[in-house]
Amino acid sequence: MQSSTIREIFLDYFSSKDHLVMPSFSLIPQSDPTLLLIGAGMAPLKPFFTGEKKPPHPRVATCQKCVRTPDIERVGHTGRHATFFEMLGNFSFGDYFKEGAIEWAWDLVLNGYRLPEDRLWVSIYYEDEEAFKIWNEKIGVPADRIKRMGKEDNFWEIGLGPCGPCSEIYYDMGEEAGCDSPDCAVGCDCDRYLEIWNLVFTQFSREASGELVELKQKNIDTGAGLERLAMALQGVHSIYEIDMVKPVYEHFYNLADKSRRDQEVPLRIITEHSRGIAFMIGDGVIPSNEGRGYVLRRLLRRAVRFGKLLGMEGNIITGAVPLIADIMGSTYPELKERQDYICQITGLEEKRFQETLTQGMDILEDYIEDIRARDENTLPGDLAFKLYDTYGFPLDLTAEILEEKGLDIDREGFAEKLRAQQDRARAAAKASGGEADDSRYRAAEQLTTQFTGYETLEQEATLILALVEGETQTEITKDQKVEVLLDKTPFYAEAGGQIGDTGHIESSSGRIKVENTIYSPWGQIIHQGIVEEGRVFAEETVTARVDGGRRQGICRSHTSTHLLHRALRKALGEHVNQAGSLVAPDRLRFDFNHFSALTADELQAVEEAVNKMVLANVPVKVEMTTLEEAEKLGATAIFTEKYEDNSVRMVSAGEYTRELCGGTHVASSGEIGLFKIVSEEGIGSGLRRIEAVAGQNAYKRTLERDRLIEKFAASLNTAESRLEQKFAEHMAEHRALQKSYHELKQRLAASEVKTLLSEVKEIEGINVLSARVTAENQETLRMVMDEVKNHLPSVVVVLGAVSDGKVILVSSATSDLVNRGIRADHLLKEVARRVGGGGGGKPALAQAGGKDTAALPSALDSVEELVRDQLKAVDQS
Ligand code: ATP
Ligand code: MG
Repeated sequence: MQSSTIREIFLDYFSSKDHLVMPSFSLIPQSDPTLLLIGAGMAPLKPFFTGEKKPPHPRVATCQKCVRTPDIERVGHTGRHATFFEMLGNFSFGDYFKEGAIEWAWDLVLNGYRLPEDRLWVSIYYEDEEAFKIWNEKIGVPADRIKRMGKEDNFWEIGLGPCGPCSEIYYDMGEEAGCDSPDCAVGCDCDRYLEIWNLVFTQFSREASGELVELKQKNIDTGAGLERLAMALQGVHSIYEIDMVKPVYEHFYNLADKSRRDQEVPLRIITEHSRGIAFMIGDGVIPSNEGRGYVLRRLLRRAVRFGKLLGMEGNIITGAVPLIADIMGSTYPELKERQDYICQITGLEEKRFQETLTQGMDILEDYIEDIRARDENTLPGDLAFKLYDTYGFPLDLTAEILEEKGLDIDREGFAEKLRAQQDRARAAAKASGGEADDSRYRAAEQLTTQFTGYETLEQEATLILALVEGETQTEITKDQKVEVLLDKTPFYAEAGGQIGDTGHIESSSGRIKVENTIYSPWGQIIHQGIVEEGRVFAEETVTARVDGGRRQGICRSHTSTHLLHRALRKALGEHVNQAGSLVAPDRLRFDFNHFSALTADELQAVEEAVNKMVLANVPVKVEMTTLEEAEKLGATAIFTEKYEDNSVRMVSAGEYTRELCGGTHVASSGEIGLFKIVSEEGIGSGLRRIEAVAGQNAYKRTLERDRLIEKFAASLNTAESRLEQKFAEHMAEHRALQKSYHELKQRLAASEVKTLLSEVKEIEGINVLSARVTAENQETLRMVMDEVKNHLPSVVVVLGAVSDGKVILVSSATSDLVNRGIRADHLLKEVARRVGGGGGGKPALAQAGGKDTAALPSALDSVEELVRDQLKAVDQS
């Protein structure tokens, strides 16, 4: 039976039992920040189990994509554990319970899938008599086929809250799949008794006291592995042989070096990981050193390393993506739609890792030798950190390689290094930005400040707290730096990237200039500033006035940010997510996930799209709604933000974009006026940053550019329309001049050389030239010397020049003369000594300098004598 049929039969069956069939949720948990990845069918439905949310129907069935990292070490070593798999499940939220769940599961296994009864076994929690009775009396499973298992295996519980016993269905894969141990039975760790379905009966709640209390609303949560059902129904012994996986396995088998194709485990690991990698990227995970990005990176780097061990070349995983998309695409269309994108990400990550893999492996080998030489068995944490930091080895990968060799890793030492690095980064961030100091605002902890700045920029209020350096004041006076709280305020405190408002707070006797507005650690709005005039008293009535022009600029920037976010998603793909932002009156900054630099065309398309929405002048609406409703409308939420379920603020610009946002915005997009991107750059692995300007500043920017062009045109003495052409002409002229200048210089040097050649003397059969020339530096001096040598195959040369009030000297001897014992370095040393300097070099070439310019002529004259001396010395020896 095909896997797709198994999936279909399951969902159809429960649909016929009044279950709402929901599509698989994303692998990325949508409402549980504590969870990295979805690892079971019930995980995305958790809010329905806890009662936090109302389910759309009391009975639900799904086929859910799952990633289970804890099983990573078992992948390949068993035939039945994958990190990525699909889980079929039926769920009851306070509706049917044990009896229904057991009856239907049995009916489906026997009559739907037609698995032979004599191969089936079941397990129950040893104390669960209710389950035993249903299996034994109602269904008729003989008592010796019902295994009672302990808490470890058959009681589901995580921390406090809902929990309960389980009951599992096993399929006997036959003796040949077993481990040959005489004790092999249901529950054995080998591949013989395959757990295909687990039924969880959540009937208790674990209280803080340790007590188990019966729940009023009892739930059913079941999970059946699709790949495992396929193993049973296709009569194969591992998931690598089932229809969905076999072609991928064969793909890698063929890529492996012929001599290494018998290495079953590595082949299985690559096969398995490649599926998980494709699905994770398809759901928007990007490789990184943290969280789910780390899981992805670890899977990919692990697979690549095993690929290399099997002798595979080039990009290994990327090549399998189209195949996986082909096999799985009809059920999971996102794989097909994002196939190119998935290939891009895997390609980039593979390339990045392969570049350092060999190097890192060599270094690790050295470390291992060192450890062995010292008779130890643990890799120090700082070395593991170096591999991680410099060569991209995930800690667990290093640990695994070491483990293969019977060695350990100092995880604590590694963690310490990592912490130290993070602390440094944090300290640097703090130094550049500064963090709020909690204790400073203790006095504000119990106070309430109400924000009225969505509706108004001016507000009458009572000053409820005045602080000077954290100390409460009854009165503040001129020139004091202060922090004040009002019971109501129109000032927006910095949040969600939008910077704080500025403005004035005025009382009958004084005025405070507000330079920034922030939140206290407990959420009160704090105005920071300076008393500009007079004195202001606590409990006094004041008028708070926000700087309206500045706020208007901020609103323009903020709405622009939303339009930009949407435009980026449209142009680059839905993986683009806001990673940070700055919304200021004069500029905006937007950080987002993307794997490569934007092209000029992409940037232009994004800028154009935003401006199109500006010109369309769509209304910008703010609505309070529920999280559920907002999600339904496709509103974008920021991952790192926390939202209340039943009251979220949704900002939309026409139908173009909807975002959950607490910021201030223009009333219609036309107010933005103009939007210009200023720069785009990478700010870390997989992170990009765009800086842009809107409104007045965008106009100012184009104006400045206009001025610049005008200035250019004026200095080139031409009309703007001819600027490009004129500039090209100037450049051509410039190049032509440069060329003729070089030619002239060469000709000059040549003619100087001619004069020099006439000064060559013959001393005892040797050509000797010593002369003063004009040269600004050693380099020109040598150029002249080379030119002389080009004309004379055998010669000793000493050239001197005066440059910047100093003497510079070079000397050389052709190799035939060096062989006769002439040494240019010795020669020049003597000459340099005569001008009060020194130098050095080799027998064939030397350079030197000196201070005494007046002595240069006589020093050069001495060369003749010095050469004679050298020849004499040679003859005597
Ligand atoms: P096992 O003991 O075999 O690891 P489990 O007890 O961890 O399984 P559950 O958490 O009960 O499994 O998950 C429900 C079902 O999902 C299992 O009955 C099995 O069919 C399937 N399943 C669990 N883990 C995996 C895995 N790593 N790969 C493939 N299928 C799995
Ligand atoms: Mg398990």
